[in-house]
Amino acid sequence: MKPLSSARLKTWLPLFFSISFLLIICMILALELVQGLNHYHEHAQHKMEQLSIQNALPIRRALENQQPKDIQVIIGSLSLQDELDAIVLTDEKRQILFSNRYAWRGKPLQQIIPESRQIEASQVKKFQLLDTPTGLLSIQPIEYSLSSNGLRKTKQVRLWIYLNTQRGRSAIIRQSVNNALWGLLFGSFILAGMGWVLYRQIGIPLIQLTAFSHRLAGGDYHARLSVNGNGEVAQLVDGLHQMAANVNQAIEELKSSEQRLSITLDSIGDAVMVTDTLGLVIRLNVEASKLTGWSQEEAQGRPVIEIFRIINAETREPAEHPVGRVLREGQVVGLANHTTLISKSGQEYQIADSAAPIQGEGGETLGVIMVFQDVTERYLMQSELSDTLNRLQALTNSLPDPCFVLSDQGVYLDILGGPEELLAKNREQLLGRKLTEILPPESANPIMETLQKTLTTGQPQRLEYSLQVPAGKIHFEGNTTKLNREDGAAVIWQARDITRRKRAEEDINRLAKYDTLTGLPNRRQLEHRLEQALARCQRNDNHGALLFIDLDHFKNVNDSLGHLHGDQLLIRIADRFRKLIRTEDIAARFGGDEFVLLLEDLGQDLVVASQHAESVAVKLRDACATPIDLTGHRVEVELSIGIVLFPDDANSEELIKRADIAMYRAKETGRNRACFFSKELQHIAEERLDIQRALRHALQEDELRLFVQPQVNVQGQWIGGEVLVRWQHPERGLIQPNAFIPIAEECGLISSLDSWVFSHAINKLAKQNAILPESFSRLSLNLTEPLMMRNGFIEELKSWLSQAVLEPRQLEFEITERVLVGDHAQAAAVIDDLRDLGIRFSVDDFGTGCSSLRYLQRLPLDALKIDKSFVDRLPGHTGDASIVETIIDMAGHLSLEVIAEGVETKLQLDFLIARGCKQFQGYLFARPMPWDEFFEKITKNAP
Ligand code: C2E
Ligand code: MG
Ligand code: MG
Repeated sequence: MKPLSSARLKTWLPLFFSISFLLIICMILALELVQGLNHYHEHAQHKMEQLSIQNALPIRRALENQQPKDIQVIIGSLSLQDELDAIVLTDEKRQILFSNRYAWRGKPLQQIIPESRQIEASQVKKFQLLDTPTGLLSIQPIEYSLSSNGLRKTKQVRLWIYLNTQRGRSAIIRQSVNNALWGLLFGSFILAGMGWVLYRQIGIPLIQLTAFSHRLAGGDYHARLSVNGNGEVAQLVDGLHQMAANVNQAIEELKSSEQRLSITLDSIGDAVMVTDTLGLVIRLNVEASKLTGWSQEEAQGRPVIEIFRIINAETREPAEHPVGRVLREGQVVGLANHTTLISKSGQEYQIADSAAPIQGEGGETLGVIMVFQDVTERYLMQSELSDTLNRLQALTNSLPDPCFVLSDQGVYLDILGGPEELLAKNREQLLGRKLTEILPPESANPIMETLQKTLTTGQPQRLEYSLQVPAGKIHFEGNTTKLNREDGAAVIWQARDITRRKRAEEDINRLAKYDTLTGLPNRRQLEHRLEQALARCQRNDNHGALLFIDLDHFKNVNDSLGHLHGDQLLIRIADRFRKLIRTEDIAARFGGDEFVLLLEDLGQDLVVASQHAESVAVKLRDACATPIDLTGHRVEVELSIGIVLFPDDANSEELIKRADIAMYRAKETGRNRACFFSKELQHIAEERLDIQRALRHALQEDELRLFVQPQVNVQGQWIGGEVLVRWQHPERGLIQPNAFIPIAEECGLISSLDSWVFSHAINKLAKQNAILPESFSRLSLNLTEPLMMRNGFIEELKSWLSQAVLEPRQLEFEITERVLVGDHAQAAAVIDDLRDLGIRFSVDDFGTGCSSLRYLQRLPLDALKIDKSFVDRLPGHTGDASIVETIIDMAGHLSLEVIAEGVETKLQLDFLIARGCKQFQGYLFARPMPWDEFFEKITKNAP
């Protein structure tokens, strides 16, 4: 389509109309002028022709009649008409005969009318009309005949009429100009009217349309132009309205499509950047803005290399730009690995993704779209993963246990870690082969079952199995984990060598059930078997018995002969028990020197059953009565046996307790005997427990009281006193030590009790120092083994002494023979230290224990206290008398003092004095008395 031309109507329209109008006026003027002139000319010609022709005849007649006047009249009348300039009648020689001016007569025509030269007179035969520049010249030949002399003579004159047309023409021109001016005036009015109409109808609409179009062009598509009528302008405005609406709608659609595109691009998690073919950024989404640090407005139009700065993460060299590559190659390119994007602010991101050309319909490249994403985290994770994999690899290689990756068919896919000798074959021989081909069926089958179970349940499984491998027969514990691999599910099989553990378990199992020393079932096993026996007896209405056996004075053996001999003795006793019982019975070692026999099937009758049990007890005692030779030492063993029959109202635990109570009773009633459990025994045992509990409380609540029994010399002077504890029980009153000291020893409270007595006695004695008579040399305190051997006892004692400000030499510690035969070296060390402080030592209850002359000699002792049991039957009992004499003699030899305990009678005293004993303690002199009473009396008795 040809381009439209456009001019400024404001200028061009009036100009155009004015010029057109002028041209029209000029044309009309010209036409009118030409027409007027033509008409004038034609009219003149016609008129001249008419005048010539009309007047030719009268002139001829006048000539023929020779009436010159008539001719002059004719010419005169002619000249009056139409302002003819010259009317001349010439002869043939063109001499003027007649003319409208008299003066011209006789003159040659050329002189008057110069234009007449143009007409050849000879050629004039008829009327002729000649246009000359100045006017019209007509010639009319007139022939006439004259009769003269009878002859008729024909002559010719010519009527010349000349009309100067210039005048006429000027008039016509003037008239035309006049007309033109009028026309111009009139036309101007019309033109102005037309202009006004045009301005109204076209100009104003055009101006408004122009303004309207400018508003539309300015984007105001809602602009409206109101038009009256339905002319072209209205149609044009309608069209424009429609067009604006369409454009607006198109723009709205474009906007919404743009918006959708923006939203879509922005909601893409990936960064998107679009460039044109020059590599200038067209747009980038929010994510791309975030990563590059450039906003859409900032980035738009800038070179992409400025916005998207990338380097190689490892070399830090600039990376090849994907946009350049796409533009060069025209195809999709992925970013190189390890690409780092440097944002505007200098922050670095690891990125990944691709760039692709945007192609038009014809396949031409319109630009490049880059899609990239921040993979920093993934990158780090990958590098961590790679590190982890490396570590894992190193770790698996160093695994102590072989780990197999097995397919669902049991094919060895991989073998990790573990020493070579734990593999059935070397790795190369195993890989790719089925374990069923390698391992014997008895191992392969359960392994395959476990493997399948792992795969079906997805849960780890465990299997213990044995395999013959180069290292020998190894017990393995297989632990499985399901492994999902790309080529299918597999199982990781960790094979742990548990051979040592297995053996240890077997050992533990054995240890758990059997006593290591004697090989007899141990306590746990006994309890277990007892429960079973109890259930059986209840079921079968049968009776059984439990014999609780304790070796009397076993501690003495242990202490005097040593633990090895003690152990030997226990082994020998166990052997004897084993031989004695029936196969269905059980002899168990319960701990220490305690054994338990479980006898089943003793019959349905309780009496018969008890007789059976008793007879077994007798057999046991008899069997042990035969001395046992322990590498040079002959030992006779006595047994205290507690018997309980079952089933009863007791469970297995209670039964053992009852048998123990019965055994305790046997011990209490003289040892080396059997004792049946009874309810009374139980009562006693329970009471003992009560005392234990109450004793703890007594210690905390200061319910203990210190009594002192005087020790006298031959003269009866109180040379010392033995501190003896009493228990002021809130309900039972004053309790004697025999009722609670053994219990305190049993339950481990004795050292606390002793330290209470020691600290209080030291403290109190220090306070009495001032009033003590000179004869009073010491206060005796009973020191038991637990306190003596207690860690830090010496320091404790020192602190009590220093706090109370008491001289150690004022104290004497009574120890029993048991302490001395125990850990001799340690006891000797303690005694040495305490002796160094100045404390005296005496051996209490001397003669009842396993005395050894060796320790009496070696230990730094001061005195021996003859036990009351020897003094009791003095002087009548010869045995005791000789023992007492021996003790006194021996003490003399060992330079030890002797003090006799339990002196109740004068006879006893005399005997003792006679044998050389110089110190005494007993009811004969005084019973134990409260502390204060003792010190009150001693001050009074003082010499
Ligand atoms: P032990 O150390 O041999 O004390 C002598 C015991 O003989 C005292 O009995 C005393 O009252 C008693 N006795 C002394 N002379 C006669 C007498 O002529 N006739 C009679 N029938 N008995 C006499 P007690 O006070 O009942 O103490 C008994 C045992 O309790 C003590 O024997 C001692 O082994 C222990 N004991 C007493 N107090 C304590 C103490 O504070 N600590 C420790 N560890 N044991 C103590
Ligand atoms: Mg004593
Ligand atoms: Mg004693």
